[in-house]
Amino acid sequence: MNGKAEPDDLNKLERLANNIKKSAICGLGQTAPNPVLSTLKYFREEYVEHVSYNKCRAGYCRALCNLVINPEKCRGCGICKRNCPVGAISGEVKMPHEINQKICIKCGTCADKCPFHAIEKQTI
Ligand code: SF4
Ligand code: SF4
Repeated sequence: MNGKAEPDDLNKLERLANNIKKSAICGLGQTAPNPVLSTLKYFREEYVEHVSYNKCRAGYCRALCNLVINPEKCRGCGICKRNCPVGAISGEVKMPHEINQKICIKCGTCADKCPFHAIEKQTI
């Protein structure tokens, strides 16, 4: 999710889940790794995209997406700009604002604060 995994981490994850399944004493423990094992089985290509290409096709993992301001929705209120911790947002009052992707640390504060839901995730 943070773009720091290595391809071999998928094998480690699978081994770990299988070991938990085999060694757990109660039914709860034995079934706990099932979501990991079944998603690895049926959606492995999405895991591979995350670890090998830093891509999240669902647009859920913030670190693997860019946040962009939709100029159609932006009202230029400046709330995002005032709340950005690194000064990555620029724009004049009542005009569409913009995010500088080179400065943005993808904290998501702007998207959380925008009252017009104008800040959207864009898969890289
Ligand atoms: S908070 Fe939303 S509407 Fe206001 S300037 Fe930022 S993106 Fe535009
Ligand atoms: S995600 Fe965080 S760092 Fe990036 S523009 Fe929004 S508030 Fe600024």
